[in-house]
Amino acid sequence: FLDGTGVHIGYQPDGELEEDDIRQRNGLKPKERMPRLNDPRGLMTCGFTSDADYIRFETTVSTDADQTAIAPGYLQKDWVQNGRRYFHYRMDAPMLNFYSIQSARYAVRRDQWRDPTTGQAVAIEIYYHPTHAYNVPRMADALKKGLTYYTKAFGPYQFRQVRIQEFPRYKSFAQSFPNTIPTSEGAGFISDLRDPERPDDVFFITNHELGHQWWGHQVVGGQVQGSSMLSESLAEYSSLMTCKHEFSAPLMQKRMRDELDQYLRGRRGERKKELPLMLVENQPYIHYNKGGMVFFALQDYIGEDKLNGAIKAFLTKTRYQTRPYTNTAEFVSYLKKATPDSLQYVVHDMFETITLFENQLDEATYTQRPDGKYDVRLTLRAAKMRADSLGNETPVALRDYVDIGIFGPDQAKKTEDYDASGKPLFFKKIKLTQPKTVLTFVVNDKPAKAGIDPYHKLIDRHYMDNVKAVAAGEGKGTVVAQR
Ligand SMILES: [Zn+2]
Repeated sequence: FLDGTGVHIGYQPDGELEEDDIRQRNGLKPKERMPRLNDPRGLMTCGFTSDADYIRFETTVSTDADQTAIAPGYLQKDWVQNGRRYFHYRMDAPMLNFYSIQSARYAVRRDQWRDPTTGQAVAIEIYYHPTHAYNVPRMADALKKGLTYYTKAFGPYQFRQVRIQEFPRYKSFAQSFPNTIPTSEGAGFISDLRDPERPDDVFFITNHELGHQWWGHQVVGGQVQGSSMLSESLAEYSSLMTCKHEFSAPLMQKRMRDELDQYLRGRRGERKKELPLMLVENQPYIHYNKGGMVFFALQDYIGEDKLNGAIKAFLTKTRYQTRPYTNTAEFVSYLKKATPDSLQYVVHDMFETITLFENQLDEATYTQRPDGKYDVRLTLRAAKMRADSLGNETPVALRDYVDIGIFGPDQAKKTEDYDASGKPLFFKKIKLTQPKTVLTFVVNDKPAKAGIDPYHKLIDRHYMDNVKAVAAGEGKGTVVAQR
């Protein structure tokens, strides 16, 4: 696996020491991680590679006679000469100066996807170690579902072929290069997918990487704050949307809780400063985990088609745009245009600030009514905070729409007290304005659990107290509203 190969021209700031303490030990001043959002020089520099914009690409690779070498582009010809095998690749569309080359004794699965509206065919090729065939059909399935969703939601795929190439577990990542997605054996090929109660990471990772063919390869930001949101958060969101249509609700809930867990853990380990999503400085816990959560929540608030429409309009405007490169300020302006006045605060909270919640279901009781239905009384606590870059929190007024759910018995076999995997008997966003709210609801079936933000759409520092079992009984406290 040759990564970052090829010629790079000029000074490469990526090679500088980053951590403040290591810099100090070497007599260097602390360094800003990234130029500001509107930095004029940063906006004239590609966020992925500082030495070139989109390029024309052609390469010839030689390898052992029994191996297949893979690089971006389309294979023009291959031949054997002096006991070595040669591969000549050429790309016919603009691509970033960003590529990797693999060579191995591969087995290959060939498949095809056809765009249902245009009829355009895309060849799917998965190159794998011959004994690692387990998840190869699942990867092909994921690619087809991703291609279908992304072309419809965002716009056309720019290549005629997509390839996944396995590489050994010296590293356990997958990365998207033009029409090639090198994937570690440890990032999908040898994952054990037999447990139906675990979210399928092969599907998720494959479609995250496929998403980068749009986010990163069609649209790329400048070398400024926020640019990794345009690549990583949008790839994460794209993949989460394919998961939403593929996974059961309880599995999706686990998937989203994983995002929340990793974000909360990441911000605890921050060594310099946390930033709002739109100013992210290549911080994985922000651009992957918070980004995935925030975009997923936003499609829930304003609607999937509305959000995808805004993203598509942004992509159409900025596709292959170079100097000046786009930034997240331009992107967020598209989000605001697509968001109704009543929900503008959601965009502000999620993209422009660090906003946290402390929501809790304090008490949940039910009584059966004479008509056979059930009265459910919930005592909810809710609070909203803004954090600064060092984690200092300030309370802010609550005027927020928050999911309230009442559920039947859990459907997942392995379930935690704080999971709500039952059929929703009631589920709705309710505007909360008080730190404590007591509400009653009427449901047709006997309730088992209830929750405030039970599916973890908001960033809640303690999510384990959001859901609890509903107990038989009258409950305490004065009801402020009847639903
Ligand atoms: Zn990524």
